[in-house]
Amino acid sequence: MGRIAKVVVEISLDREFDYLVPAGLRSVIAVGTQVEVPFHGRDLRGFVVGLAERSAHEERLKEIAGVVGERPLIPDRVMKLAYWIAEYYCAPIEHAVRTVLPSAVRRRGAQAKRQLVVSLVEGDVGCLSGLQARVVALLKERGPLLLRAVVEELGCSESPVRTLDKRGVVSIALAEQGRDPLAGRALVRTAPFELMEEQAQALGIIREAMVAEPRETVLLQGVTGSGKTEVYLQAIQSVLERGEGAIVLVPEIALTPQTVERFRARFGAGVAVLHSGLSDGERHDEWHRIRRGEARVVVGARSALFAPVEALGLIVVDEEHEPTYKQEESPRYHARDAAVMRGRLEGCCVVLGSATPSLESCRNVKRGLYRLARMDARVDHRAMPVMRVVDMAAEAERLGRPSLFSAALIEGLYDRLDRGEQVMLFLNRRGFSSSVQCERCGYVNECSSCSVSRHYHKGAGKLICHVCGSEERVPGACPSCGDPTFAYRGSGTEKMEEVLGKLCPRARIARMDSDTMRRKEAYQEVLDDFRAGKIDLLVGTQMIAKGLDFPNVTLVGVLNADIQLHVPDFRAGERTYQLLTQVAGRAGRGDVPGEVIVQTYSPHHPAIRAAQQMRAEIYLEEDLAFREELSYPPFAHLVMVTFRGLEEAVVMQECEGFARRLGAMLPEGVVAAPVMPAPLARAKGFYRFQLMLRCEHTVKMTAPIRHLLGQLKLAKGVRVTVDVDAMSLL
Ligand code: ADP
Ligand code: ZN
Repeated sequence: MGRIAKVVVEISLDREFDYLVPAGLRSVIAVGTQVEVPFHGRDLRGFVVGLAERSAHEERLKEIAGVVGERPLIPDRVMKLAYWIAEYYCAPIEHAVRTVLPSAVRRRGAQAKRQLVVSLVEGDVGCLSGLQARVVALLKERGPLLLRAVVEELGCSESPVRTLDKRGVVSIALAEQGRDPLAGRALVRTAPFELMEEQAQALGIIREAMVAEPRETVLLQGVTGSGKTEVYLQAIQSVLERGEGAIVLVPEIALTPQTVERFRARFGAGVAVLHSGLSDGERHDEWHRIRRGEARVVVGARSALFAPVEALGLIVVDEEHEPTYKQEESPRYHARDAAVMRGRLEGCCVVLGSATPSLESCRNVKRGLYRLARMDARVDHRAMPVMRVVDMAAEAERLGRPSLFSAALIEGLYDRLDRGEQVMLFLNRRGFSSSVQCERCGYVNECSSCSVSRHYHKGAGKLICHVCGSEERVPGACPSCGDPTFAYRGSGTEKMEEVLGKLCPRARIARMDSDTMRRKEAYQEVLDDFRAGKIDLLVGTQMIAKGLDFPNVTLVGVLNADIQLHVPDFRAGERTYQLLTQVAGRAGRGDVPGEVIVQTYSPHHPAIRAAQQMRAEIYLEEDLAFREELSYPPFAHLVMVTFRGLEEAVVMQECEGFARRLGAMLPEGVVAAPVMPAPLARAKGFYRFQLMLRCEHTVKMTAPIRHLLGQLKLAKGVRVTVDVDAMSLL
C-alpha cells in the first residue's frame, strides 16, 4: 500500500507535497521515514508524514529519490501515539507527526555541531618556537582540548597550532561535541534519601504497578513538601536497574529549574532535558542522545512525551492538574492524557503526581481505572503552613477605602523581615493596573482588535493589550472629554512592587513576571540571589507559585485570590483551590513553620475554604454535584467548536448553520449548548462564536464533527477550530 507519499520538506515545514513511491521502495517507506526528494531542481531531504493511494496532482508527480537512514526516525509506538492524537483530538495527521518529531531533528541543517579538537601526537616534538612550546605544554598538562580553547587560553592565533599539526606534533580533528544545555551549572551528585513511611508505601504501589499485567496508572496525591520528587527518583532508579528508560513531564520547565536539577544531580549525564529554551542544535543533540540510548531518563515539558526512548518503563507527569499540559494549537492534545495513552501503547506504568489532582484523575481513581497512593504528611513531619484568610471588604470598610495590602499582611511582612526571614507575594496579574479609566466621563482605553481593556504598564509608559500585545502611549488627557485625571483599577505586580517599596524601603525586592523575565537567564539569576539571601521579598505572578523550594521563606501572601475565582469558566473554583494550595506550599519548607495570608472579597467561597482547611472535599462536594447535574467534566468529555472571522454576522451565521446540521447528526447522549459568542468575544480582530458539546464518549461528538468538517464550505475568511477536552473556554 502507499503509491503516494506525503512529504514535508525541510525548507517548508508547514506544507506537505505528494511524491510517487517507486516500486522498489514500497516495502521500506513508512510514515516516519526520512527521504530524499527532487524539489525545484534540487535534492532536498524530507520526511514522510502520510501515505495515500491517490493525489490531486497525479500528472505532475515526481518520484522519491531515495531513503535516508536505516530505520524510520520515529519509533513505531510514538507513531501510533501520533495517530491516536490525530484521531482523538480531530487534528490532521500531519500536525500530529510534526508534533512528535521536533523540527530541529527533521531539518538537515541542524546536525550536531562538530568542533575542532587538538591532541598531542606521541613522539619527538623537535625544535619549537616559544608559542609552539606553550601549546605543547598546555596539551601535556590538560589533555586534548578544543582548538578554540587553546587559542583563548594562550591568547594567540590558530597558526602555531596549525603549524604543529603540519609537522605532525599535534593533530587537529573534527569531533562531535554534544551541546550540553546545562553546561556550566555545577552539580553535586545526590544519593537516594531513606524514605519516610508514606513515601515507601507510595513507592511500593508504583513498583507493583510497574510489573502488573497490564501495567497500571497511579495517581500520587501528596501534599506540598511530602517528597513526591524523591519517590519519582527512586521509581526511576528501579526502572534503570531493569535496563529500561523513563520520561518525566513537568508543567513549564523554565519555572521548575530546581526539579530538573534534582534529576541531573541523581542520574548525571544519563538525563536528557528538553524544553523550549533550547537552541535547535541543542534540541537536535539531546534528541539523538535519547535515540541512541545514551540518555535513558528524559525530563521536559509537554512535548518531551514524544521522546524516542526505547524500552520505556515509566512515565511521570508531575503536577498533573496543570492546564499548561494542554496544547493550545493543533493538535490540541492534553499531555497527561496522551501520556496515559503512550503508557498503554508501550505497556508501561504511568505516575500522575499532584498535591491537588484534577477532578478528572480523581474520578478515574473512583472508577477503578487508576490506583491511588497518598502522602498526607510533609517530609520529617514539618508542619503544613497555616493559612489565614483576610476579608478585604471588611478591611475596606475599616479603612474607608479599598487597599492593596491588609493590616494583617503588612504586620506579617514587617515581622518576618525583622527576623531575617524571606517572603513571597503573589498576584496573578502583571503590569501596573488592568484598566485605565477617565474619572470624569468613564472612558476606558480598550484594545481596537480585542474585547478587553488594555493594561497599564507604568515602567514602559504604555497601555498594552494582554490578548494581542498591541500598545499605545498613555494619553496626557482623556481622548473623549479632555480631562487629565485617570483612575487605575485592578492592581498588578508592578503596582504591588511600587507600594511595597514604600512600605518596606529597606527591603531588597525582586519582581518576577513575564515583563521582568524577558532575558533567558534572568529567572535563574533571581532565584539564585533569592536562595543566597540577597533578596528579602520576591513578588510575582504564577511564575513563583510552582515547585520552588526555599527553606527560609516563612510567609507567603496572596494579594487577590479573586482574580482567578471570577474567570467565566466552570473550572474557576478548581483552579483557585489548586493555585492557593500550590502557592501556600512555598511557605515553611525549612525548620520555621510557614504562614500564608490570603486576601479576598469572597472569604466564604468553598474553593478558598477548602484551600485554607486543606480539605479538598469541601469544595469538591459542591463542584462535583453541579458538574454531574450538568454533565460537565469529569462526568463527561467536552468539545468546543469555535468559529472566527472578521465579520461578526457572518461568523455567527456559519456557527449556527454548523450547529444546526450537526444537531441533526448527533447521537443520543450528546448535550449541545446553544451557539454563543465566546467569553472573549473578539480577539486579534476576529469575532468568535462557540458551540459547546458534552458527552460521556468523545467519539460520539468527534465522529460527526469530523464528517461534517469534511464537507463544510465555509464563507471566505471564516475559520473553525475543534478543541477536544478543552481546558480554556475563553
Ligand atoms: P513535593 O514535590 O512533594 O513538594 P519535594 O520532593 O520537593 O516535595 O520534597 C521536599 C523536600 O524534602 C526536598 O527538599 C527533598 O529533598 C526533601 N526530602 C524528600 N524526601 C526526603 C526524605 N525521605 N528524607 C529527607 N528529606 C527528603
Ligand atoms: Zn488586543
